[in-house]
Amino acid sequence: REEQREHISVPLLLKQIQGAGANGIRLTMESALTARDRVGVQDFVLLENFTSEAAFIENLRKRFKENLIYTYIGSVLVSVNPYKELEIYSKQNMERYRGVSFYEVSPHLYAIADNSYRSLRTERKDQCILISGESGAGKTEATKKILQYYAVTCPASQQVETVKDRLLQSNPVLEAFGNAKTLRNDNSSRFGKYMDVQFDYRGAPVGGHILNYLLEKSRVVHQNHGERNFHIFYQLLEGGEEDLLRRLGLEKNPQQYHYLVKGHCARVSSINDKNDWKIVRRALSVISFKDNEVEDLLSIVASVLHLGNVQFAADEQGNAQVTTENQIKYLARLLAVEGSVLRDALIHKKIIAKGEELISPLNLEQAAYARDALAKAIYGRTFSWLVNKVNKSLAYEFPGWRSTTVLGLLDIYGFEVFQHNSFEQFCINYCNEKLQQLFIELTLKSEQEEYEAEGIAWEPVQYFNNKIICDLVEEKFKGIISILDEECLRPGDATDTTFLEKLEETVKNHPHFLTHKLADQKTRKSLGREEFRLLHYAGEVTYSVAGFLDKNNDLLFRNLKETMCNSENPIINQCFDRTELTDKKRPETAATQFKNSLSKLMEILMSKEPSYIRCIKPNDAKQADRFDEVLIRHQVKYLGLMENLRVRRAGFAYRRKYEVFLQRYKSLCPETWPTWDGRPHDGVAVLVKHLGYKQEEYKMGRTKIFIRFPKTLFATEDALEV
Ligand code: ATP
Ligand code: MG
Repeated sequence: REEQREHISVPLLLKQIQGAGANGIRLTMESALTARDRVGVQDFVLLENFTSEAAFIENLRKRFKENLIYTYIGSVLVSVNPYKELEIYSKQNMERYRGVSFYEVSPHLYAIADNSYRSLRTERKDQCILISGESGAGKTEATKKILQYYAVTCPASQQVETVKDRLLQSNPVLEAFGNAKTLRNDNSSRFGKYMDVQFDYRGAPVGGHILNYLLEKSRVVHQNHGERNFHIFYQLLEGGEEDLLRRLGLEKNPQQYHYLVKGHCARVSSINDKNDWKIVRRALSVISFKDNEVEDLLSIVASVLHLGNVQFAADEQGNAQVTTENQIKYLARLLAVEGSVLRDALIHKKIIAKGEELISPLNLEQAAYARDALAKAIYGRTFSWLVNKVNKSLAYEFPGWRSTTVLGLLDIYGFEVFQHNSFEQFCINYCNEKLQQLFIELTLKSEQEEYEAEGIAWEPVQYFNNKIICDLVEEKFKGIISILDEECLRPGDATDTTFLEKLEETVKNHPHFLTHKLADQKTRKSLGREEFRLLHYAGEVTYSVAGFLDKNNDLLFRNLKETMCNSENPIINQCFDRTELTDKKRPETAATQFKNSLSKLMEILMSKEPSYIRCIKPNDAKQADRFDEVLIRHQVKYLGLMENLRVRRAGFAYRRKYEVFLQRYKSLCPETWPTWDGRPHDGVAVLVKHLGYKQEEYKMGRTKIFIRFPKTLFATEDALEV
């Protein structure tokens, strides 16, 4: 009985503190109420004052203080990063959540994981778990913990063990190449990730597939103060065997490499590169990398470092000349290209005009630009290759068992607002608009479907439909991306400024768009002349257009591309395809590529049954037990949690199957105690009549009772104590 009642008013922790469960002391009504006061409610829908942001945050704060980092909004899980190891991820705890109904145990990632898994098994419907939150909020940790949960709790066999291993081991590899230390997070994912896990008819994981989004390539050539390049560079230098480093022409010291010194923090106390190197090496073998493939891959990593050290000097005409021959020698070997060809390609630009080749020399600035563009292209494409390679190793290999169901995990950047926001933030925030749209659509849809299934009249919910903002960004011809592309493709004098002007002209009357010129006197002060502001569902963000064209074009000069196409490093060779050179069509711009991959992602997610995990970062200092209210209030807003709660609470705060409800409260009514022989529906009807429920307080559906206000439920709950 104690175990059961924990879910509403007396969380497990309190029980442990007071020893109530252990020594059989029954909690009095008074202490149960104190418990609720002290540790808050474990589902926000049970907040009396559910529209109050202050009450919401107070509830989070109470729970955080008691190390209760998980709280529901209905079936959505809100998680606050504890920044310390909690004893809640043990194998035993996993077992506690296995096959248990959502509401019978305290909120946890495992409950979401298990619930999705069970729907997948019983309804054979594909599932997805969407994890969002800002950098450092705990998305990647959550994803990993969910994967571990499946690895431990799902049926096993030898074949399956291999798949489980590979699923788990794909993480350290992709993190080595795609994560970096930033100011916000020492292990920040610099790419978005969607991972499908396939299950066979027995519910065992038999395969997987990963889609990656928008790797932050600019980090390869530049890092802000206090940040690092991608982990792999430091791991290789710290952990690589002497032999290997010699072959790659590398020195151990990161200070030697221009691409590693920009952030002035090659060493980080929380990161052990040497150890991580071992983990990554092992993981590479698990995901079936052969030794020669590892060598090819590391040659590319090393070549990026060498590229960064390529320097130029101007000759009398002001044309760039390479002054670091040694680097060219290493590059030629590592990339398996002709050294002289590469040298020439770095300081010349080739254009094909009317079928004729025109070659012109580059000045210093252009040559440095070309070099950095090559480094970014090589790294970015190798990363995609790596994802592909991981996918091959995860591919479902049992053709005999055709039918599989799929569970997807989305770990993608949350809404970003910095002091200075650029193209990257624009893409990321657009992505979040799309996810928000999906969320609202699917939440409302599932609410509506449940009402329908239960035969209860639908009560329309007022909500903000952010389609208008999605359209502003992505609409054909007149959306921001279209206009940006148009400027990128326009020959001649297109610049970031002309882009802004065109934007002003085309979308000037849009209620969610503003620039310096379009703003009224008062707001104008807060906007620079090179900026535009979008009013996102989560709030205003001001973007600086500087660099938009360049980043969207993502240009690599033709002769560098050609050189790479001739590379005999098998990975580079696969990354640079000859058709790129002959294709008349211009390659898709970065924004359009992103838009298209997002639209595919939406289709994938739409076809599945979603669950949500909303992650919150409690403070900027990465410290345990610090609850920074201002910071958290921002996130509650950006994650749209109040809106989420409002939609979820619009009708009824609480709903339960008749059987479950009756089982729990039957002792409160002489007619239903100790057993009720009739239909559970009728038993509940008798029960609530006895309890004096008023008509407006509840509704009886086909299989469930719906209770409108938390206080009704709490009164019933408290009555159990007396
Ligand atoms: P980004 O968007 O930058 O990738 P993220 O949301 O993926 O951020 P994580 O890398 O998952 O953030 O978490 C950041 C750090 O917070 C982790 O390295 C870990 O130290 C800590 N952390 C996150 N979740 C937990 C948890 N459940 N328990 C203990 N520590 C955690
Ligand atoms: Mg992450």
